[in-house]
Amino acid sequence: MTAPTSTNPNVTVVGSLNTDFTVRVERLPRPGETLCVPDAVMSFGGKGANQAVQLARLGLPVTFVGAVGADDRGREYVDRLKLLGMEMHVARIDGAATGLGFVHCMPDGTVSSTVIAGANARVTAAMIDEALTEAPRPALILTQNEVPTDAVVAAGRWARRHQVLAVINAAPHVSNGDELLGLFDYFIVNEEEALGYAGRNRAPQDVAGWLGLAEGLRRIAPNVVITLGAQGAVYAGPGGVLVVPARRVDAVDTTGAGDSFVGALCGALATDETIEHALECAARAGAMTTLGVGAQESMPEAGQVFGAAA
Ligand code: ADP
Repeated sequence: MTAPTSTNPNVTVVGSLNTDFTVRVERLPRPGETLCVPDAVMSFGGKGANQAVQLARLGLPVTFVGAVGADDRGREYVDRLKLLGMEMHVARIDGAATGLGFVHCMPDGTVSSTVIAGANARVTAAMIDEALTEAPRPALILTQNEVPTDAVVAAGRWARRHQVLAVINAAPHVSNGDELLGLFDYFIVNEEEALGYAGRNRAPQDVAGWLGLAEGLRRIAPNVVITLGAQGAVYAGPGGVLVVPARRVDAVDTTGAGDSFVGALCGALATDETIEHALECAARAGAMTTLGVGAQESMPEAGQVFGAAA
Protein backbone atom coordinates (compact mmCIF):
# COMPACT_ATOMS: atom_id res chain seq x y z
CA MET A 1 0.00 0.00 0.00
CA THR A 2 1.26 3.45 -0.91
CA ALA A 3 1.48 5.86 2.01
CA PRO A 4 0.57 9.50 1.29
CA THR A 5 3.00 12.20 2.35
CA SER A 6 1.68 14.83 4.72
CA THR A 7 3.35 17.55 2.63
CA ASN A 8 0.93 16.79 -0.21
CA PRO A 9 -2.48 16.25 1.38
CA ASN A 10 -4.53 17.12 -1.73
CA VAL A 11 -7.49 14.77 -2.13
CA THR A 12 -9.22 14.17 -5.46
CA VAL A 13 -12.84 13.07 -5.33
CA VAL A 14 -14.35 11.40 -8.39
CA GLY A 15 -18.10 11.33 -7.83
CA SER A 16 -21.68 12.54 -8.00
CA LEU A 17 -23.44 15.86 -7.53
CA ASN A 18 -27.20 15.81 -6.78
CA THR A 19 -29.85 18.27 -5.70
CA ASP A 20 -31.64 16.62 -2.74
CA PHE A 21 -35.30 17.09 -1.79
CA THR A 22 -35.91 15.91 1.78
CA VAL A 23 -39.38 15.27 3.18
CA ARG A 24 -39.97 14.49 6.86
CA VAL A 25 -42.52 11.68 7.26
CA GLU A 26 -43.91 9.61 10.15
CA ARG A 27 -43.53 6.46 8.01
CA LEU A 28 -42.91 5.47 4.39
CA PRO A 29 -45.95 5.46 2.05
CA ARG A 30 -47.53 2.02 1.51
CA PRO A 31 -47.98 0.71 -2.07
CA GLY A 32 -50.80 2.71 -3.72
CA GLU A 33 -50.83 5.35 -0.95
CA THR A 34 -50.09 9.08 -1.26
CA LEU A 35 -48.67 10.77 1.83
CA CYS A 36 -49.07 14.57 2.05
CA VAL A 37 -46.40 16.70 3.76
CA PRO A 38 -46.41 20.50 4.17
CA ASP A 39 -43.02 21.10 2.54
CA ALA A 40 -39.70 19.70 1.34
CA VAL A 41 -36.20 20.99 2.06
CA MET A 42 -33.97 21.41 -0.98
CA SER A 43 -30.24 20.95 -0.37
CA PHE A 44 -26.96 20.11 -2.08
CA GLY A 45 -26.18 16.38 -2.03
CA GLY A 46 -24.71 13.42 -3.91
CA LYS A 47 -22.20 11.14 -2.18
CA GLY A 48 -19.25 12.49 -4.15
CA ALA A 49 -19.93 16.14 -3.44
CA ASN A 50 -20.92 15.47 0.18
CA GLN A 51 -17.62 13.69 0.87
CA ALA A 52 -15.71 16.44 -0.94
CA VAL A 53 -17.43 19.09 1.19
CA GLN A 54 -16.51 17.22 4.39
CA LEU A 55 -12.88 17.13 3.24
CA ALA A 56 -12.93 20.86 2.41
CA ARG A 57 -14.54 21.64 5.83
CA LEU A 58 -11.60 19.82 7.40
CA GLY A 59 -9.22 22.14 5.57
CA LEU A 60 -7.88 19.77 2.91
CA PRO A 61 -7.27 21.02 -0.63
CA VAL A 62 -9.85 19.17 -2.76
CA THR A 63 -10.12 18.55 -6.49
CA PHE A 64 -13.55 17.42 -7.67
CA VAL A 65 -14.16 15.40 -10.85
CA GLY A 66 -17.70 14.75 -12.08
CA ALA A 67 -20.54 16.00 -14.29
CA VAL A 68 -23.63 18.22 -14.12
CA GLY A 69 -26.41 18.92 -16.60
CA ALA A 70 -26.59 22.13 -18.65
CA ASP A 71 -29.06 23.61 -16.14
CA ASP A 72 -29.17 26.24 -13.39
CA ARG A 73 -28.91 23.64 -10.61
CA GLY A 74 -25.66 22.38 -12.05
CA ARG A 75 -24.24 25.87 -12.49
CA GLU A 76 -25.14 26.84 -8.91
CA TYR A 77 -23.60 23.64 -7.56
CA VAL A 78 -20.29 24.15 -9.35
CA ASP A 79 -20.15 27.78 -8.15
CA ARG A 80 -20.84 26.65 -4.59
CA LEU A 81 -18.01 24.11 -4.56
CA LYS A 82 -15.63 26.65 -6.13
CA LEU A 83 -16.52 29.05 -3.32
CA LEU A 84 -15.45 26.34 -0.86
CA GLY A 85 -12.07 26.44 -2.58
CA MET A 86 -12.29 23.25 -4.65
CA GLU A 87 -10.56 22.84 -7.98
CA MET A 88 -13.38 21.73 -10.28
CA HIS A 89 -13.04 19.38 -13.25
CA VAL A 90 -16.77 19.08 -13.89
CA ALA A 91 -18.23 18.46 -17.37
CA ARG A 92 -21.51 20.15 -18.35
CA ILE A 93 -23.52 17.56 -20.28
CA ASP A 94 -25.97 18.88 -22.88
CA GLY A 95 -29.31 17.07 -22.81
CA ALA A 96 -28.83 15.71 -19.26
CA ALA A 97 -30.20 17.05 -15.99
CA THR A 98 -28.05 17.51 -12.89
CA GLY A 99 -28.59 14.51 -10.57
CA LEU A 100 -31.55 14.48 -8.17
CA GLY A 101 -32.10 12.78 -4.82
CA PHE A 102 -35.43 12.23 -3.03
CA VAL A 103 -34.97 11.60 0.68
CA HIS A 104 -37.59 10.37 3.19
CA CYS A 105 -36.55 11.25 6.74
CA MET A 106 -38.22 9.41 9.66
CA PRO A 107 -38.83 10.80 13.18
CA ASP A 108 -35.78 8.91 14.55
CA GLY A 109 -33.57 10.52 11.91
CA THR A 110 -33.13 7.45 9.69
CA VAL A 111 -33.46 8.09 5.98
CA SER A 112 -34.20 6.23 2.75
CA SER A 113 -33.52 7.71 -0.66
CA THR A 114 -34.17 7.40 -4.37
CA VAL A 115 -31.54 8.90 -6.69
CA ILE A 116 -31.95 9.94 -10.32
CA ALA A 117 -28.43 9.81 -11.73
CA GLY A 118 -28.91 12.29 -14.62
CA ALA A 119 -25.55 13.76 -15.67
CA ASN A 120 -23.72 11.56 -13.13
CA ALA A 121 -24.49 8.57 -15.37
CA ARG A 122 -22.65 10.28 -18.24
CA VAL A 123 -19.24 10.39 -16.54
CA THR A 124 -16.84 8.27 -18.63
CA ALA A 125 -13.47 6.62 -18.09
CA ALA A 126 -11.94 9.01 -20.67
CA MET A 127 -13.23 12.02 -18.71
CA ILE A 128 -11.64 10.64 -15.54
CA ASP A 129 -8.26 9.95 -17.16
CA GLU A 130 -8.16 13.43 -18.67
CA ALA A 131 -9.18 15.21 -15.46
CA LEU A 132 -6.78 13.22 -13.26
CA THR A 133 -3.92 13.95 -15.64
CA GLU A 134 -4.67 17.70 -15.63
CA ALA A 135 -5.34 18.03 -11.88
CA PRO A 136 -2.66 18.41 -9.19
CA ARG A 137 -1.24 15.02 -8.09
CA PRO A 138 -3.28 13.98 -5.04
CA ALA A 139 -2.20 12.14 -1.90
CA LEU A 140 -5.44 10.17 -2.07
CA ILE A 141 -8.19 9.48 -4.62
CA LEU A 142 -11.71 8.83 -3.31
CA THR A 143 -14.65 7.58 -5.34
CA GLN A 144 -18.14 6.02 -4.91
CA ASN A 145 -20.64 4.09 -7.05
CA GLU A 146 -22.89 7.01 -7.99
CA VAL A 147 -20.96 7.38 -11.27
CA PRO A 148 -20.66 4.49 -13.78
CA THR A 149 -18.44 1.54 -12.87
CA ASP A 150 -16.21 2.27 -15.90
CA ALA A 151 -15.39 5.66 -14.40
CA VAL A 152 -14.83 4.19 -10.93
CA VAL A 153 -12.49 1.55 -12.38
CA ALA A 154 -10.63 4.27 -14.33
CA ALA A 155 -10.09 6.20 -11.08
CA GLY A 156 -8.80 3.07 -9.32
CA ARG A 157 -6.48 2.16 -12.20
CA TRP A 158 -5.13 5.70 -12.42
CA ALA A 159 -4.36 5.58 -8.69
CA ARG A 160 -2.62 2.21 -9.10
CA ARG A 161 -0.53 3.45 -12.06
CA HIS A 162 0.52 6.59 -10.19
CA GLN A 163 0.96 4.90 -6.80
CA VAL A 164 -1.64 7.07 -5.13
CA LEU A 165 -3.66 5.79 -2.15
CA ALA A 166 -7.12 4.82 -3.43
CA VAL A 167 -10.36 4.63 -1.42
CA ILE A 168 -13.79 3.52 -2.57
CA ASN A 169 -17.02 4.04 -0.70
CA ALA A 170 -18.73 1.28 -2.70
CA ALA A 171 -22.19 2.81 -2.32
CA PRO A 172 -24.73 2.09 -3.58
CA HIS A 173 -24.12 -1.67 -3.95
CA VAL A 174 -23.40 -2.70 -7.56
CA SER A 175 -23.79 -6.26 -8.84
CA ASN A 176 -20.61 -6.01 -10.94
CA GLY A 177 -18.55 -5.45 -7.77
CA ASP A 178 -15.86 -7.89 -8.91
CA GLU A 179 -14.65 -5.21 -11.34
CA LEU A 180 -13.45 -3.31 -8.26
CA LEU A 181 -11.22 -6.17 -7.13
CA GLY A 182 -7.62 -5.21 -6.42
CA LEU A 183 -7.97 -1.55 -7.45
CA PHE A 184 -8.45 0.12 -4.06
CA ASP A 185 -6.55 0.23 -0.78
CA TYR A 186 -9.69 0.91 1.29
CA PHE A 187 -13.22 -0.43 0.73
CA ILE A 188 -15.90 1.32 2.83
CA VAL A 189 -19.54 0.20 2.91
CA ASN A 190 -22.58 0.34 5.20
CA GLU A 191 -24.49 -2.69 6.49
CA GLU A 192 -26.77 -3.15 3.48
CA GLU A 193 -23.93 -2.78 1.01
CA ALA A 194 -21.70 -5.15 2.98
CA LEU A 195 -24.39 -7.85 2.84
CA GLY A 196 -24.78 -7.21 -0.90
CA TYR A 197 -21.06 -7.63 -1.67
CA ALA A 198 -20.83 -10.65 0.62
CA GLY A 199 -23.84 -12.22 -1.18
CA ARG A 200 -25.74 -12.64 2.10
CA ASN A 201 -29.37 -11.92 2.94
CA ARG A 202 -29.22 -11.90 6.70
CA ALA A 203 -27.31 -9.44 8.87
CA PRO A 204 -24.91 -10.87 11.48
CA GLN A 205 -26.35 -10.93 15.00
CA ASP A 206 -23.38 -9.26 16.70
CA VAL A 207 -20.17 -7.30 16.23
CA ALA A 208 -18.11 -10.51 15.95
CA GLY A 209 -20.28 -11.46 12.97
CA TRP A 210 -19.69 -8.06 11.30
CA LEU A 211 -15.94 -8.42 11.88
CA GLY A 212 -16.06 -11.81 10.16
CA LEU A 213 -17.96 -10.28 7.25
CA ALA A 214 -15.39 -7.46 6.98
CA GLU A 215 -12.58 -10.06 6.94
CA GLY A 216 -14.34 -11.85 4.09
CA LEU A 217 -14.62 -8.64 2.05
CA ARG A 218 -10.84 -8.25 2.19
CA ARG A 219 -10.84 -10.29 -1.03
CA ILE A 220 -11.84 -6.96 -2.66
CA ALA A 221 -9.39 -4.61 -0.91
CA PRO A 222 -6.79 -4.99 1.86
CA ASN A 223 -8.59 -2.62 4.23
CA VAL A 224 -12.35 -2.91 4.80
CA VAL A 225 -14.61 -0.66 6.88
CA ILE A 226 -18.27 -1.47 7.52
CA THR A 227 -20.30 1.35 9.08
CA LEU A 228 -23.16 0.27 11.34
CA GLY A 229 -25.07 3.54 11.94
CA ALA A 230 -25.63 4.21 15.66
CA GLN A 231 -23.77 0.95 16.40
CA GLY A 232 -20.49 2.42 15.11
CA ALA A 233 -18.22 0.66 12.62
CA VAL A 234 -15.85 -2.30 12.22
CA TYR A 235 -12.53 -2.44 10.38
CA ALA A 236 -10.48 -5.37 9.07
CA GLY A 237 -7.00 -4.85 7.63
CA PRO A 238 -3.49 -6.28 7.36
CA GLY A 239 -2.76 -5.53 11.03
CA GLY A 240 -5.96 -7.10 12.39
CA VAL A 241 -9.46 -5.95 13.23
CA LEU A 242 -10.87 -2.95 15.12
CA VAL A 243 -14.27 -2.08 16.57
CA VAL A 244 -15.13 1.63 16.38
CA PRO A 245 -17.87 2.64 18.82
CA ALA A 246 -20.33 5.35 17.75
CA ARG A 247 -20.50 8.58 19.69
CA ARG A 248 -23.71 8.95 21.73
CA VAL A 249 -25.82 11.72 20.21
CA ASP A 250 -29.51 12.60 19.78
CA ALA A 251 -29.67 12.17 16.01
CA VAL A 252 -32.01 14.55 14.17
CA ASP A 253 -31.32 13.49 10.56
CA THR A 254 -28.73 10.87 9.60
CA THR A 255 -28.48 12.07 5.97
CA GLY A 256 -24.81 12.46 5.14
CA ALA A 257 -23.48 10.67 8.26
CA GLY A 258 -21.84 8.03 6.08
CA ASP A 259 -20.43 10.67 3.72
CA SER A 260 -19.06 12.66 6.62
CA PHE A 261 -17.49 9.48 8.06
CA VAL A 262 -15.85 8.65 4.70
CA GLY A 263 -14.67 12.23 4.12
CA ALA A 264 -13.13 12.51 7.57
CA LEU A 265 -11.49 9.07 7.31
CA CYS A 266 -9.88 10.07 4.00
CA GLY A 267 -8.84 13.46 5.36
CA ALA A 268 -7.06 11.75 8.23
CA LEU A 269 -5.46 9.07 6.01
CA ALA A 270 -4.23 11.71 3.55
CA THR A 271 -2.47 13.47 6.40
CA ASP A 272 -0.73 10.26 7.50
CA GLU A 273 -2.84 9.54 10.59
CA THR A 274 -2.90 5.96 11.88
CA ILE A 275 -5.95 3.91 10.93
CA GLU A 276 -7.01 3.85 14.61
CA HIS A 277 -7.03 7.64 14.87
CA ALA A 278 -8.52 8.07 11.39
CA LEU A 279 -11.46 5.84 12.38
CA GLU A 280 -11.99 7.79 15.63
CA CYS A 281 -12.08 11.06 13.68
CA ALA A 282 -14.49 9.53 11.18
CA ALA A 283 -16.88 8.35 13.92
CA ARG A 284 -16.80 11.80 15.50
CA ALA A 285 -17.58 13.48 12.17
CA GLY A 286 -20.37 11.01 11.32
CA ALA A 287 -22.07 11.52 14.69
CA MET A 288 -21.86 15.32 14.46
CA THR A 289 -23.46 15.31 11.03
CA THR A 290 -26.60 13.63 12.48
CA LEU A 291 -27.20 16.66 14.71
CA GLY A 292 -28.62 18.88 11.94
CA VAL A 293 -30.96 18.54 8.95
CA GLY A 294 -29.39 17.85 5.55
CA ALA A 295 -25.96 16.50 4.69
CA GLN A 296 -23.46 19.24 3.90
CA GLU A 297 -24.94 21.92 6.19
CA SER A 298 -24.32 19.87 9.32
CA MET A 299 -20.81 18.60 8.55
CA PRO A 300 -18.22 19.54 11.22
CA GLU A 301 -14.98 21.50 10.83
CA ALA A 302 -11.38 20.49 11.55
CA GLY A 303 -11.29 21.66 15.19
CA GLN A 304 -14.40 19.60 15.99
CA VAL A 305 -13.04 16.43 14.37
CA PHE A 306 -9.25 16.39 14.68
CA GLY A 307 -8.82 18.72 17.67
CA ALA A 308 -11.61 17.41 19.93
CA ALA A 309 -10.77 15.30 22.97
CA ALA A 310 -11.58 11.64 22.34
P1 ADP B 1 -24.66 5.45 5.84
O1 ADP B 1 -25.26 6.80 5.96
O2 ADP B 1 -23.70 5.32 4.70
O3 ADP B 1 -25.66 4.31 5.93
P2 ADP B 1 -24.06 4.95 8.64
O4 ADP B 1 -25.50 5.21 8.97
O5 ADP B 1 -23.54 3.57 8.92
O6 ADP B 1 -23.71 5.32 7.13
O7 ADP B 1 -23.22 6.03 9.46
C1 ADP B 1 -21.83 6.22 9.26
C2 ADP B 1 -21.17 6.48 10.60
O8 ADP B 1 -21.72 7.68 11.18
C3 ADP B 1 -21.39 5.38 11.64
O9 ADP B 1 -20.37 4.39 11.53
C4 ADP B 1 -21.28 6.16 12.95
O10 ADP B 1 -19.93 6.33 13.31
C5 ADP B 1 -21.87 7.53 12.57
N1 ADP B 1 -23.32 7.56 12.90
C6 ADP B 1 -24.36 7.33 12.07
N2 ADP B 1 -25.54 7.42 12.72
C7 ADP B 1 -25.24 7.69 14.00
C8 ADP B 1 -26.02 7.91 15.19
N3 ADP B 1 -27.35 7.85 15.19
N4 ADP B 1 -25.34 8.19 16.34
C9 ADP B 1 -23.99 8.27 16.37
N5 ADP B 1 -23.20 8.08 15.29
C10 ADP B 1 -23.82 7.80 14.12
